[in-house]
Amino acid sequence: MSTKWTWQIRVYKGFSLSAAEHSYIKEVTADADFSHLSWDSIQTNAMKRIKKKIYNQLKHEQKGRCAYCGTPIMREPADREHILPKEKYLKLMFNPYNIVLSCINCNRNLKGRYDSLAQHINHKRMATSGCLSARYNYESWHPFFHAPEEHFKYSGSVSKIIKSDTPQGNKHIALFRLSSLKSIEERTEFALIMEKRQKNRLKRFMRTIDAALDFRNDLGGK
Ligand SMILES: [Zn+2]
Repeated sequence: MSTKWTWQIRVYKGFSLSAAEHSYIKEVTADADFSHLSWDSIQTNAMKRIKKKIYNQLKHEQKGRCAYCGTPIMREPADREHILPKEKYLKLMFNPYNIVLSCINCNRNLKGRYDSLAQHINHKRMATSGCLSARYNYESWHPFFHAPEEHFKYSGSVSKIIKSDTPQGNKHIALFRLSSLKSIEERTEFALIMEKRQKNRLKRFMRTIDAALDFRNDLGGK
């Protein structure tokens, strides 16, 4: 695994649920009335708990950042976003590798119901039947299945314009407008905050070392 830092975060782990929660979902999805609208319309306590659990686990896994643009999620709650849209892939509605947290702008304004498998009929058919795979020809970069460092490059610093040598990277950049001024500004702001935090951590660390050395010198002097 590469440790090279890139703007985009790779999400390694999908949510996990208990056996009881799984059987509840099985029951719900087997219902004759179950549709993509059920995601919002089922308002039972059990479903609310499941959705909250999904949210919290993903928030932790994604370090509070949007899976698509990488910026910190400022407005909560963020969207629990279906990578392959639930309107077209009903059987993937509760698949742990099809849900990420996304900022509202990326999900509602930019991605909408974009279908990354639209051009790949066979893979689309398999995914529609409920089978999800990392091997499909996703047209756009996939937060679970694709390593960011293989698809994104930065000009100068991490906040500068993103480039890509791969079709998936280019599609992702275009879809989420990652080269736009707005996106660059957001990244710059976040990069500055991270840099400041790192400097403060380093300062604290140096102070601890100094204190330890002083203590040792004091002992040596006696
Ligand atoms: Zn976003």
